[in-house]
Amino acid sequence: MTLPLITKFKNLKGKKVLLRLSANVPTDGRKITNDFRLRRVLPTLEFLHRARARTVILSHSGKDANQSTRFVVDYLKKYFTVGFMPGTDLSRLPQMLSQMKEGAFLMLDNLRRFPGEIENSASFAKKLARPFDLFCNEDFPVSHRKHASVVGVPRFLPSFIGPVFAEEIAKLSTFFKPKHPFLVILGGAKFETKLPLVRRFLKEADEIFIGGALANSVFKEMGFEVGKSLVDSRRLGLVSLTKDKKIILPKDVVALNIKGEKLIKVPAEVEKKDKILDIGPESIADLAPSIFRAKEIFWNGPMGNFEKGFKEQTEELARLVAHARGYSAVGGGDSIAAIEHLNLLDKFSFVSTAGGAMLEFLACGTLPGIEAILKSKKRL
Ligand code: ADP
Ligand code: MG
Repeated sequence: MTLPLITKFKNLKGKKVLLRLSANVPTDGRKITNDFRLRRVLPTLEFLHRARARTVILSHSGKDANQSTRFVVDYLKKYFTVGFMPGTDLSRLPQMLSQMKEGAFLMLDNLRRFPGEIENSASFAKKLARPFDLFCNEDFPVSHRKHASVVGVPRFLPSFIGPVFAEEIAKLSTFFKPKHPFLVILGGAKFETKLPLVRRFLKEADEIFIGGALANSVFKEMGFEVGKSLVDSRRLGLVSLTKDKKIILPKDVVALNIKGEKLIKVPAEVEKKDKILDIGPESIADLAPSIFRAKEIFWNGPMGNFEKGFKEQTEELARLVAHARGYSAVGGGDSIAAIEHLNLLDKFSFVSTAGGAMLEFLACGTLPGIEAILKSKKRL
């Protein structure tokens, strides 16, 4: 896959660049509480600044339209000259752009506040693109969404990817032709996004460990009592998976009983009033030899309800994978949040900034945002 890279572009001086930036970061309503994604794309902004481009930054912020991107502007102001255009009136944009200095930035408000963004309206994409010379997608984590700023804008502008986007593709593509033994570790809660990956990796991987709430759903379909544990409400046909020798399930779990006691149980011991909130220590101990043996490891999804303090096995797993000898990649918003404080992230071979996009890229080998760049108008 050869996608045009913005950093290979020679003459950006004075060019009007529309940049979809990976700037969807959590806030506490006043400031950014985790700047992991933003730190990664700062060199991209530095590049555009040094190239003397005039860049308008686009991002969404939070799950809905409530959160402003003003937080991002305040953060970026520590490094660059960044203006903010509040509201959704695009008619002011051409004039603001013409007043911008070379090397400066202007950020629009939360994209999802603009009518037409989520619906991928062609007229909105066209209006957004009109004042610009080129488009750059440096937002791999949103590129599984068919939104106007992801797939619409490239129809109207010569389009490029940013260096962090390129790195995501290169590093994740390792897993399409993995070195063996290849170990996949999946946890978390959203089985609908993870099942295609299980199915795909059944071919490529040597072992697939399924933990977290995903394992609860498997246990339930196998006929075990799972009590009040978090499970997928739909039947997903998971029993057939367990017949495959490559699939490894936790042999023990941490369950909270009706008295609020934390008990380590084997799955068959779980009772109606129990709630499984983590996998058990034996499960991790059993997995350790596979982790050390593996030439490649892909990990996504926490092993337990870490936000509520059920984080022991996720943290132990992080320590093991971080110190593994093989190539190791970890990704997923919650996975990173669960292990970031351990200061181990630089010990992994690769940490993806994406969640859903990473899973879809691994399952399908491409993303709507990638296809849009490949099909975009080439000439500048
Ligand atoms: P990621 O964002 O890393 O891809 P997911 O979004 O799939 O991960 O899932 C993360 C969520 O799964 C977290 O909120 C975590 O608390 C939850 N989780 C994992 N295991 C359990 C469990 N046993 N019970 C309840 N929640 C769990
Ligand atoms: Mg998540």
